[in-house]
Amino acid sequence: MIDGFGRTIDYVRISVTDRCDLRCVYCMPETGMAWLPHAKILRYEDILRLAGVFVSLGIVNFKITGGEPLVRTGVETLISGIRAMDGVRSVTLTTNGVRLAEKLPALLDAGIDGINLSLDTLDPARYAALTRRGALPEALRGLEAALAVPGLNLKLNCVAMAGGEGDWAALAALAKERAVAVRFIEPMPIGPGQRLAPCGEDAVRAVLEAEYGPMTPCGGPAGNGPCRYFSLPGFAGKIGFISAVSHKFCAGCNRVRLTSTGFLKTCLQYDVGADLAPLLSGTDDALRAAIETAILHKPEAHQFPAGDVQNRERRTMSQIGG
Ligand code: SAM
Ligand code: SF4
Repeated sequence: MIDGFGRTIDYVRISVTDRCDLRCVYCMPETGMAWLPHAKILRYEDILRLAGVFVSLGIVNFKITGGEPLVRTGVETLISGIRAMDGVRSVTLTTNGVRLAEKLPALLDAGIDGINLSLDTLDPARYAALTRRGALPEALRGLEAALAVPGLNLKLNCVAMAGGEGDWAALAALAKERAVAVRFIEPMPIGPGQRLAPCGEDAVRAVLEAEYGPMTPCGGPAGNGPCRYFSLPGFAGKIGFISAVSHKFCAGCNRVRLTSTGFLKTCLQYDVGADLAPLLSGTDDALRAAIETAILHKPEAHQFPAGDVQNRERRTMSQIGG
């Protein structure tokens, strides 16, 4: 559907849990996260019903997220259920990769159209420090399993933080031999991300160009989102930048977000949208009307790097889904 600023909204990120097995420094506090009780989390049947309503409104691309979506049992059944709906174009997943090796066969059977794997460093000590709970070999097992699937649409996502300069060239090198996308995300001032020093894409680009040579913009379709893609000399894969702060992309925003409690969030930075959970006891028409109204009132733009804005989002990224 079309929002109040003429943007086509065709993509929803659905968070299936607020829980996670890691505690990435930019996403969650190290301790003290209180998980939502199961009774507050949407059941898969409710998410499937909402997905059907989304499709009826022209939302045809779905991203399954969390928290860590692979910690919720049976997420593959949700994926296959959405994938089977008439009109759905893509169902993809974003994961930290820790459980990916074991879950990948079920995800492929479910018809997953693509996987985004979040990985900020290839250095074991830094990985442990950045994720606070993780061990690099687990994530690398997931990465290797995904790389071994011929033709899988695989993207690696690295939140590029000041101090991470030493990680970027090694991560980019994963796109040297193989046709994967390695994407660098500017940290956003949400949750603990508010305390991070700014780090723009120019810093990453400088490191990569010094190591590998000049980058050139890729032609062709950009995909479902705000990522701008570039090629490096001799690389089979692409380098991408998702730069919400230095290259604001709100004018082309195509997405809304559904939290695991059923709140339809219409902009990352603000706590605005519609709580769909109470409406699940009513009709699909009532759900459709609430979604339409929320999308019509989708804010025009975020105000990053400013963090302290009116109606500021107080959820952490793990409670939103990224
Ligand atoms: N656990 C899964 C994962 O890590 O991919 C899915 C949820 S996670 C919240 C989704 C994405 O949000 C990840 O790529 C993560 O790096 C990103 N993210 C979390 N906090 C962020 C922040 N403050 N700024 C930018 N990206 C952030
Ligand atoms: Fe968990 Fe993903 Fe947040 Fe890291 S970014 S703490 S893996 S939800």
